[in-house]
Amino acid sequence: MTREVERTEEQWRELLTLPQYAVLRQGGTERPFTGRYWDHFAPGEYRCAGCGAALFDADAKYATSCGWPSFTRALDPARVEERPDLPHGLWRVEVLCRSCGGHLGHVFPDGPEPTGLRYCINSASLVFHAR
Ligand code: FE
Repeated sequence: MTREVERTEEQWRELLTLPQYAVLRQGGTERPFTGRYWDHFAPGEYRCAGCGAALFDADAKYATSCGWPSFTRALDPARVEERPDLPHGLWRVEVLCRSCGGHLGHVFPDGPEPTGLRYCINSASLVFHAR
């Protein structure tokens, strides 16, 4: 698949910190309650740490006990890609940045109204910009 932002693995390794690389490029998951943003609620937007695309707004962020930043929706559905992820026969939906293909996290159907969705996103894949 062609992405708006394409870089070689070497370029990604130079550009990203180790935790960012592990999540965005290797599909890793940070340990709960360890990321920068799980307990962060200032107004602003969260952009992709890989390419800078604006992905989530603080307006859609809510407090959960799961230990990862959680949103009820993406800022613009066109900016994220959702695809089935069946790692161990466990059905999940992976969430990626559409422009660079970076792994962000997963979306689960156990969120609050109005969407009923929980976009469970790794802090390491995001950079916060205050309003
Ligand atoms: Fe991106």
